[in-house]
Amino acid sequence: MMNLTVTASLTFAVAEAAGAWFYHKTESPKWRGLLSAFGLGFAATMVLFDVLPDATEHYSVGYLLAVCAAVATFAIWKRTNRESGEQVGASVNAVAVGGMALHNFAEGAILASLTGPLSALFMVGAILHKLPEGMATYTLLGGRKCARNLAIAIGSAILIPIGVLVRIPESIAQPVMAVMAGVILAAVATTVAGKKAEDAALSFAHKVAPYLAGALIGGVSCLLA
Ligand SMILES: [Zn+2]
Repeated sequence: MMNLTVTASLTFAVAEAAGAWFYHKTESPKWRGLLSAFGLGFAATMVLFDVLPDATEHYSVGYLLAVCAAVATFAIWKRTNRESGEQVGASVNAVAVGGMALHNFAEGAILASLTGPLSALFMVGAILHKLPEGMATYTLLGGRKCARNLAIAIGSAILIPIGVLVRIPESIAQPVMAVMAGVILAAVATTVAGKKAEDAALSFAHKVAPYLAGALIGGVSCLLA
């Protein structure tokens, strides 16, 4: 099944890199804002329907870890946000990007256990799942257009095929992913809170629709792939 796994993992990686690339190449601040909101809506559902179920399968302590991590991250953000502002938000988001990267690693491991053949529906689901993930990672990096952010987002995508080859034992992967799930959710919440000011000029529908679209695609893609 090696060819199958290689094809699937490369498709995943290319789709995610393409999502990041598309975000990177978008110039208009309005469109970047909409893509960010789309990516964030997606990231929230992807954590709830994809990361958290994997992290807690036969491991219910994972829920507790996730909730504690989310609350702790939020508390740290809130406390330090008053004092030093942006920098802390950036470090919370850096941990969340690490979580997205680890999620890719874990996805590689799941792909390694695939038994073929790959259906067209699976491939559509994979692309729907990975394109927005690339946008979400870029957004969590702060969303500022720069080569470094693009490189990190693409580097994260490359972890999918690497995850096919390198195994992390479940006993380590599950608690780490549970904590990361909590951190990603908190980072999404704080990033959305931070985006409020720049979204102020948008109409209500424009403010809400991209988050909902991201959340919907997140839910559907988790069902398909
Ligand atoms: Zn994923």
